[in-house]
Amino acid sequence: MTAHVESWGGLCVENSELLKPEAFLADERARGSALPYGNGRSYGDSCLNASGAAIETRKAGRIISFDDTTGILEAEAGLLLSDLIDAVAPAGWFPAVLPGTQFVTLGGAIANDIHGKNHHRRGTFGCHVREIHLDRTDRGSLVVTPEDGTGLFEATVGGLGLTGLIRKASVQLMRVGASSIRQETTRFNDLGEYFELAREADERHEYAVAWLDSLGTGTRFGRGHLIAGDHETKGGHSAAAGTSPLKIPFTPPISPLQGPFLRLFNETYFRSAQAGVSVKTVAYEKFFFPLDRIGRWNRLYGPRGLHQHQSVIPEDVGFETVKKLLECTQATGHGSFLTVLKRFGSLKSPGFMSFPRAGYTLTLDFPDKGSATLGLLAKLDEVTLAAGGAVNPYKDRRMSSATFKSSFPEWQKLEAMRDPALLSDFWRRTVMSQ
Ligand SMILES: Cc1cc2nc3c(=O)[nH]c(=O)nc-3n(C[C@H](O)[C@H](O)[C@H](O)COP(=O)(O)OP(=O)(O)OC[C@H]3O[C@@H](n4cnc5c(N)ncnc54)[C@H](O)[C@@H]3O)c2cc1C
Repeated sequence: MTAHVESWGGLCVENSELLKPEAFLADERARGSALPYGNGRSYGDSCLNASGAAIETRKAGRIISFDDTTGILEAEAGLLLSDLIDAVAPAGWFPAVLPGTQFVTLGGAIANDIHGKNHHRRGTFGCHVREIHLDRTDRGSLVVTPEDGTGLFEATVGGLGLTGLIRKASVQLMRVGASSIRQETTRFNDLGEYFELAREADERHEYAVAWLDSLGTGTRFGRGHLIAGDHETKGGHSAAAGTSPLKIPFTPPISPLQGPFLRLFNETYFRSAQAGVSVKTVAYEKFFFPLDRIGRWNRLYGPRGLHQHQSVIPEDVGFETVKKLLECTQATGHGSFLTVLKRFGSLKSPGFMSFPRAGYTLTLDFPDKGSATLGLLAKLDEVTLAAGGAVNPYKDRRMSSATFKSSFPEWQKLEAMRDPALLSDFWRRTVMSQ
């Protein structure tokens, strides 16, 4: 069967061969090259395989077991985190790590070793995975764990889907008093103020992340909101009323997320929080997944799609490098609609290809404006690498081979442990074609 397979940044592969997970070891078409596909929430080409098959994992998403005394859950890899939360939150459990959308699969969360607003306390998703059932064309069906000494667990966590097809996994969940969040928002007037607040917010709260106004200049440069939160200690599990009422029905010919609209949005959003500190209790979807409330919001970036640039910068050069990254963006007249800054903690992931490392991570979103945007992204890579940082591969569709290899010095270890039948467009572009 063939189909249209796409990534969140707007890249698509037409006529991709679709394989069922159970066919991966048996079907000859996988030998020509295949790649597991979760829910396509990666932004670039790391979840795409234009010259081969896509292994469609979503339909195998059952929860196999859940022990509500230990919080250990075993499920098939196609399970969406939204369904996982619905199943476990009423019993007082929650995934220990959540990204900014709940529409990602368990397999995708492991393969990209995703991070959330509590990296400073819980590390990455892979820190909470206990066991992975993996199918490989050269070794058959295996069960891999952090203790087994094969190195396959460490390669699969953050292994970009290249070490085998994850069929099932067991994860340790986190006990919470309630799923709702006590949210504390601090409005800050410039970037320096954020850097004064960030460490203490991490010490005091389970979750902390900042939104920045990427267009602010002069005394407003780097202003924004520091949004911290903790689970309420009492209460049940209730979802936000009326989730996802709105869906962007079509792709506009030109992205509205730039120029005067963006300036107005940033000004209004900045003023939507009162000066100083404000506190309220919010439903968990509002806190973790505000963008999920607008279906297909990525269409607002226009027909050429969007680029997301996520860098991580070592802590000691955090302030001056983030400042430089924002200055580069402003100098080219590119406004970033969603600009997010977060401090990563020092907890190490078991995955040797994991993106997070101690320091500050800055995420910028741009509509694609051709060579001007590519030039800016290359400059942002240069600034990041010069500071000893790294660029995130699962947000990317254009980084150079040199940028990738410098960001992930252990890439050869992953290449050595890759299932020979698995390949992605990202891996072809950054590793195979050099
Ligand atoms: C609005 C939004 C907010 C986001 N916020 C965050 C965030 O805060 N933190 C963060 O880390 N990420 C974030 N992301 C990115 C997203 O969490 C990751 O890209 C995630 O891995 C996507 O999962 P997916 O199920 O859609 O997988 P896909 O994007 O389809 O695939 C991701 C990778 O997993 C592999 N894969 C999928 N299933 C399997 C399997 N069964 N076996 C082996 N490999 C598999 C694929 O080959 C691919 O390499 C965000 C994305 C969006 C759209």
